[in-house]
Amino acid sequence: MRALIFERSTPRYAAARIAASIAPGLGSRVGPLTLSDVDEPELPGPAWHRVRPRLAGICGSDLSTVDGKSSAYFEAVVSFPFVPGHEVVGELDDGRRVVIEPVLGCTVRGIDPPCRACAEGHIDRCERVAFGHLAPGMQTGYCTDTGGGWSTALVAHDSQLHPVPDAMSDEAAVMVEPAACAVHAVMSSGAHGRTVLVLGAGTLGLCAVAALHRFATPATMLVSAKHPLQRRLAADLGADLVVGSDEVRRAVRRTTSSLRVGNGLSGGVDVVVDCVGSQASLAEDLAVVRPGGTIVLLGMPATVLVDLTPLWQRQITLRGSYAYGTEEAASPPTRSFQMAFDLVAGASLDRLVSATYPLDRYRDAIDHAANAGRRDAVKVAFDLRKEKRR
Ligand SMILES: [Zn+2]
Ligand SMILES: [Zn+2]
Repeated sequence: MRALIFERSTPRYAAARIAASIAPGLGSRVGPLTLSDVDEPELPGPAWHRVRPRLAGICGSDLSTVDGKSSAYFEAVVSFPFVPGHEVVGELDDGRRVVIEPVLGCTVRGIDPPCRACAEGHIDRCERVAFGHLAPGMQTGYCTDTGGGWSTALVAHDSQLHPVPDAMSDEAAVMVEPAACAVHAVMSSGAHGRTVLVLGAGTLGLCAVAALHRFATPATMLVSAKHPLQRRLAADLGADLVVGSDEVRRAVRRTTSSLRVGNGLSGGVDVVVDCVGSQASLAEDLAVVRPGGTIVLLGMPATVLVDLTPLWQRQITLRGSYAYGTEEAASPPTRSFQMAFDLVAGASLDRLVSATYPLDRYRDAIDHAANAGRRDAVKVAFDLRKEKRR
């Protein structure tokens, strides 16, 4: 099959990192990602299915990997070589369309009894992602045994498959996975009735805006967005006030009637949903959240240098938000993916898919995705529907 393969190669990984420091996305030209002809992954067991990807998104975490910027932390929870791609709508052998829920928890790994987290429906907190009958890998798209979406075939377990309603387009369906990440962050944020800032308005930020509007109803929703299309979409998806990234502190000060204290504020917003995850964004979060407030880290970070003194003195909660599972804050508790299907359809999130590319233009695709905001785009995806299998 045709697949983009990510090999373990320290020199190429280092080269990608250097190239990416010149321009985001350049890691795809010199790094460990190549377009190859390889064998299709084998079905690991009877409850498994072959899935032919139709559309597969490019996620911020994929871009970090391609650009050599992923944390060494991931070494133990991925396996090489792997085919990236965890935002996938595909087709089973019988023609049914499915969205993949990529987390590879205990059920998928054949671990019985499952770990405590999986037993409670919280596969996002699985303690066994490096164990069981599959090679290590947190998700489809990081595991050598399952394959990933940037190819013409992957394998997925029964429990990972979500049927796509006939009325839902592939473009909408490919947004379900990132939307589920946003749903999970929003449902754990305690945003209901609060003043909330969404920092960053790429795919995750815009999905978070839509999820807050639909499921959390904050008292006031501020959004910081750098680029014109992002601003328009944020306003359309339910933001009360959209500001540029250099206007955040002023907007928060006015909205919350805070006073200026040095570089920071006396008060601030109740909740920040950080959809960037960079050193700069974390510093900004800490400057604009009120004492006792919460920062939900939805964007994937890496090693950062941040002064945590305000976190300590203002007793701020910093919580990570990874993937999706079961939302206990919904009544009754509901799978994040189920809520994400609802959100994508209700908020027409198919409009966030800005461009699609065939596999052999992967360098252009990654360049587009890495510079999406600047180029007035949001989600960039691979279109595998016309791809030859060999
Ligand atoms: Zn992702
Ligand atoms: Zn588990």
